[in-house]
Formats: sequence, structure tokens, C-alpha cells
Amino acid sequence: MVTTELAPYAKAGGLGDMVSSLAKALALRGHDVRIVCPLYGCVRREDSWTPHETSLVVHLGRREEGYCRRWEGALPGSDVRLYFLEHDGYYGRPEIYSGPWGAHSDNGERFTFLSRAALDLCYALDWMPDVVHAHDWPGGLVPVYLNTVEAHKPLGKAASVFTVHNMKHQGYFDSGILKFAGIPDAAFVPEGLECMGMVNFLKGGLYHATKLTTVSPTYAKEMQTPEFGHGLDPVVRFRAADLVGVLNGIDAEHWGPEVDEYIPAHYNTQDFRGKAVCKKVLQNRLGLAEDPHVIIFAAVARMDSQKGLDLLAEAIPRVMEHMHAQVVVLGMGEQDLEHWFLSLSYQYPGRVGVHIGYDSALAHLVEAGADVFVMPSRFEPCGLNQMYSMRYGTPPIVRATGGLLDTVQSYHEGEGHGTGFVFEEPSVDGLFYTMGWACATYYDRPKAFRQLQINGMKQDFSWRHSAQHYEDVYRWAMEDRSLKV
Ligand code: ADP
Repeated sequence: MVTTELAPYAKAGGLGDMVSSLAKALALRGHDVRIVCPLYGCVRREDSWTPHETSLVVHLGRREEGYCRRWEGALPGSDVRLYFLEHDGYYGRPEIYSGPWGAHSDNGERFTFLSRAALDLCYALDWMPDVVHAHDWPGGLVPVYLNTVEAHKPLGKAASVFTVHNMKHQGYFDSGILKFAGIPDAAFVPEGLECMGMVNFLKGGLYHATKLTTVSPTYAKEMQTPEFGHGLDPVVRFRAADLVGVLNGIDAEHWGPEVDEYIPAHYNTQDFRGKAVCKKVLQNRLGLAEDPHVIIFAAVARMDSQKGLDLLAEAIPRVMEHMHAQVVVLGMGEQDLEHWFLSLSYQYPGRVGVHIGYDSALAHLVEAGADVFVMPSRFEPCGLNQMYSMRYGTPPIVRATGGLLDTVQSYHEGEGHGTGFVFEEPSVDGLFYTMGWACATYYDRPKAFRQLQINGMKQDFSWRHSAQHYEDVYRWAMEDRSLKV
């Protein structure tokens, strides 16, 4: 697997969780899984990792031959081999994609280097994988290399699987990047990497991969439409026969109220006392009034228009006026949104608690300590937080889109069915009234609310089924590839 994120070492969103938990699940099924990831400045190095003595030679375009050092280790609790690429010029800075001034201007080179280095590493190890699995736009050149530069070399026999976690981020670069990459101009065509005169990494991956996957069945359909395709929906439709949506699972060893090492008390469906402890600690941590009875709505997300947090920010004054409620927000991203939430926390002290930043331990505490999770996403390829929140007995409010639709069943008032509150319209009203519905259920029908919590906690979101599904996709890709080469 070639990835830019890997939990627990480098994470900006769900990709890092997905890669490490899928890899672990595949290794448990007997596969030899190896992961290549950059050694960013933020990665905490384990004592057990060893640096390789000789540099890895990375065969980019003729003049740009590069070198890096690799560190080898194992994914904690598994046999999965990890290879971290050390290159201070590209990866020494702490952030993965963007710094305080926006996206790094050399992201094209940084992730081209990663893609090429991953393939060169296979030769250096004298290890030929059956399948190379690349993720999102930064991995888009992997299938392109396999079909072009590598086509008549040993690695060209490997099938490629390309997983799209998000169609919005595509990796557009000037065509000069191809010279840097050492990819022939013949690949710079509309049925390949070219998009409006630029190189589009995501498009390259979509065209060249043997098989495509995305992270939920609903998003697999949505990404074929103009509304969700971000301009590449015709390409996805063209490849529709090779595309499957496989729902992400969650890492049950780290996310669950019985096992979580970050939360102050554990609990389960029989005994919720630990949840009350978590609630109290959360209230203290975020400067909220300590009140065991008030409902806490919470959101943890990248602050990006995708996540619809602007709808929440706009709804908060109405929530404060009409509901006895507290709101917790953890996130970072667009500065306007960060400032908006901070100003709400000053406006409603003790009732709105905001933490701007990336804090994994706090994310776990929020899942456990809140009462209702809020995900008003405009689009959501899969989404992990709604699954985490269900596991923690924190029913989610979600918008009916993508993986949210595939994982949350809307609460049915009369019958006690359901695991959360689903709404259709991505609007402030839609969200506000749904928060009102959750509030009424919480205060007026506590037994129904408890049933909702238990229903969610009993869901099986483990990787078992999904890993099996990926195994089928890999086999399918290998059969297809062997027919073509
Ligand atoms: P996406 O991949 O689109 O960001 P997901 O819901 O799939 O959304 O995954 C988000 C992951 O990132 C979750 O594990 C969530 O807890 C984590 N996360 C997002 N923002 C933060 C933050 N500010 N601090 C800690 N964890 C965060």
C-alpha cells in the first residue's frame, strides 16, 4: 500500500485509520502486507524501527534522480511491514499536506517521489507484490507508472487498486511535473492524466488503475454524478464496471467504550456509569458548566465546507436560545470557520466549548463524553466518526449522504428502531430541527434514547467483512491484469 497517511503516526482524516486497519485485517487473513509512507516531521519514531544503511535510489525523470533513506518497522500489534521514507527536503516539515500558508507548493513533487520510491523499493527489496494499492490523488501516479514506465518490467505484472476517499481533492499540477516524474508524454492525454491543460493525479489514477474502489456503496453511485464528481464524474462513469464501494470498518481495538485507552472510565450496554464520568471530564476539559443532565451535542471534523460545520455554527445561536444544551467542537482547517466557532465560545461561555487543533486523545473523549454527535456533511464518502459515535452510545445526527446513509439507520419513533437521526436538506433549518428532535428524545423519552444508544453500540463495524471484500477486489484485479500483460 502506498499512502500519505497512516494511523497512529500521521493522520489528517479517515485515510490514515483506513489504511492501518485494513492492512492489519488483511495480515490476519494471512497476506503479506507492506506499507510505504513518508517520514514526516510529525511522525513519532519508534525505538524498534531500523534505518537502512544504503540510500534508496528513486528513478525519477533523467535529471532528477533522487535518493532517500528508509526506516523499517512493523505496524503495532501486527506483522504488517512499514517502510517510512526519510527525505528532509520533501517530508521534514511537520505537516502532511499544508502548512500555515496553505497547501505545500511542492506537493506534486513530494507525492510523485513517494509513488516512484514505493515502486523502486520493491526492486530494492527484491519483493514483487501481486497488487499495489494506492489511495487518493497523492497515489494517482502509482497506476500510471505501472502502465507506462513499468509496463514491460517485472513490476508491470502487478495489478493496481486505486481507492478514492474523496473526489474533491484531485492534485492539479503544471505539465512539467511529468518530466520530473519520468512519465512519458504519451500519458498526457484526456484519456489519462490531462485535464484542462494540466496534470490531474486523481484522473490519472482513475484511468490507469486495474480496479477502483471507494469507501461506501452510496458514494460509489454518487461519484458518478455531476453533483459529487467534481468534474471527473464522466471518467468515473467510464470506469463504472471496474468500481466497487466497500464500506470502511473501524479499528475495534482502539475505538470502543470498553477498550479505549484515552478515556477516563469504561462502560458498556449494561452499565453506562463510565459514560457519565467521561461527560464530566469533557465538560471540565472544555470549560463547560458541569451538569450531568444537560444534553451535549458534539462535532469532531476537519473544518472544510464538505463537513457542513458552517451549518452548525449558524445553528448554534438558535440552539442556545431554544434548547437546554451544550455544544462541543473539535477541529481545524478553514480559518473563517475556526474564528467563527471561537467567537461562539466567547459568546456562550460555559455552554459552547471549542478546541481548535488536532488532538486524538480529545477526539476519543468527545466520542465518549458527548450525548449526540453532529455530522451535517454536504458529502461524505464514508465517514468514520458516525461509526465511532454509535460504538460509544452517542447517537449521531447525520445528513443523508454517502457513507452516512449506509451506516446510520434513522430512529423510528414508534418502534424503537434505528441508530441515529437522519435529515435530508443540507440547511441550517434541517440541522436545527433535527437537533430539536434529538433534544426532545433525550429529555422527554429517556427510555427510547437509551434504546437508540444500545442499538448503535451493538452494530458490527469491524473490518472483518470489508477486508474479505477487498480480498475479492484484489483477486479480481489480479485476474484482469494477468489477461492484459
Ligand atoms: P475525513 O476522512 O473526511 O476527515 P472521517 O470521519 O472519515 O473524515 O475521519 C475523520 C478522522 O479524523 C476521525 O478518526 C476523527 O476522529 C479524526 N479527526 C478529524 N479532525 C480531528 C481533530 N481536529 N482532532 C482529532 N481527530 C480528528
